[in-house]
Amino acid sequence: MDLYEHQARQLFAEHGISVPDAEVVEDPKAARAAAERLGGRVVVKAQVKVGGRGKAGGVVLAANPAATEITARQILGMNIKGHTVHALMIAQPVDIQAEFYVSYVLDRAAGRFLAIASAEGGMAIEEVAARRPEAVARIPVDPAEGVTDGKAAEIAAAAGLPARAAAVLRRLWEVVVREDALLVEVNPLVRTSGGELVALDGKVTVDDNARFRQARWGGGDSTDPQAADPIEVAARAKGLNYVKLDGEVGVIGNGAGLVMSTLDVVAGCGARPANFLDIGGGASARVMADGLSVILADPAVRSVLVNVFGGITACDAVAEGIVQALDSVRLTKPMVVRLDGNAAAEGRAILASRAHPLVEQATTMDGAARQAAALAR
Ligand code: GDP
Ligand code: MN
Repeated sequence: MDLYEHQARQLFAEHGISVPDAEVVEDPKAARAAAERLGGRVVVKAQVKVGGRGKAGGVVLAANPAATEITARQILGMNIKGHTVHALMIAQPVDIQAEFYVSYVLDRAAGRFLAIASAEGGMAIEEVAARRPEAVARIPVDPAEGVTDGKAAEIAAAAGLPARAAAVLRRLWEVVVREDALLVEVNPLVRTSGGELVALDGKVTVDDNARFRQARWGGGDSTDPQAADPIEVAARAKGLNYVKLDGEVGVIGNGAGLVMSTLDVVAGCGARPANFLDIGGGASARVMADGLSVILADPAVRSVLVNVFGGITACDAVAEGIVQALDSVRLTKPMVVRLDGNAAAEGRAILASRAHPLVEQATTMDGAARQAAALAR
């Protein structure tokens, strides 16, 4: 889950990192009032979960409250890389002497975090990283050791940041740990004319697996539906585990292990899974209908493979679920169903008697995957 800049700003402040005074508003009049409270001259910043707002015209300096209102009217409703601006952060302007880049990002392959830092931060950081990679320091961070004073000093020195940036680096690491972040990025971290280091922009990605203890961000209102895959959002709302992949066979199965091996078998048949959905143990009609509608919403799906091994939930109950789901969801793609395990024969008979023209059955997992792969071709 990505946080908005203003939420990242709040976290930084809570961990003792300097941030500009700011308010979040949703209409031009409120923007004007905020500018009045903040001293007149302000920066108007679009709140969207995407970078490059400055280049897109979503970060604008306003000289006074009247100008703030006009600027706010221009930015609200603006579309930045597919994200509509619904809120603005009105911030006190900071006098910038230098712009730095600092971040911590989870390096899954290495099982560590990576500290990335540069003395040449700001809007051109991607170009700096591409053209002169030596200007960007990359220091591995062992999560068990964390960022000690020594480590923070090492990162600051490697990037050519002022020595006092070490304190900011230590606090940012606390944000990673306490807030269950997969990414914490400050670009720019600025040095003001007074020599202070201020986090002018922030990006924080909170691990979705930690939602249970990061409830303050909610599952709903702080998640920008436009920022995520709409099908994933719909699946999550229905309590389903849906994962988008890039092939053409939609996969539904019960249980993580069966679903994973189904993906492998589909790949082994020369097809690629378009997505997969684990409907868990109880494949009720409701869950089946929800699952089918989620899978069919993906335009890349050319065939659907339902692979269920009946256990506590027997295959006849699953088959009833599929039959009922076929009454509420219009099947638009061919579907192959493989039922095995508890009451498989009864389940197959129920499906056979429904005789849906787009539904085929298979008795083995390999056979089902071959059929689904052929139908997707
Ligand atoms: P981004 O483009 O989405 O990364 O948005 P940022 O919040 O990083 O702002 C983009 C750029 O606007 C920054 O790199 C700064 O150069 C500039 N900027 C943002 N806030 C201020 C400010 O308070 N004062 C000044 N002088 N420039 C600012
Ligand atoms: Mn930025």
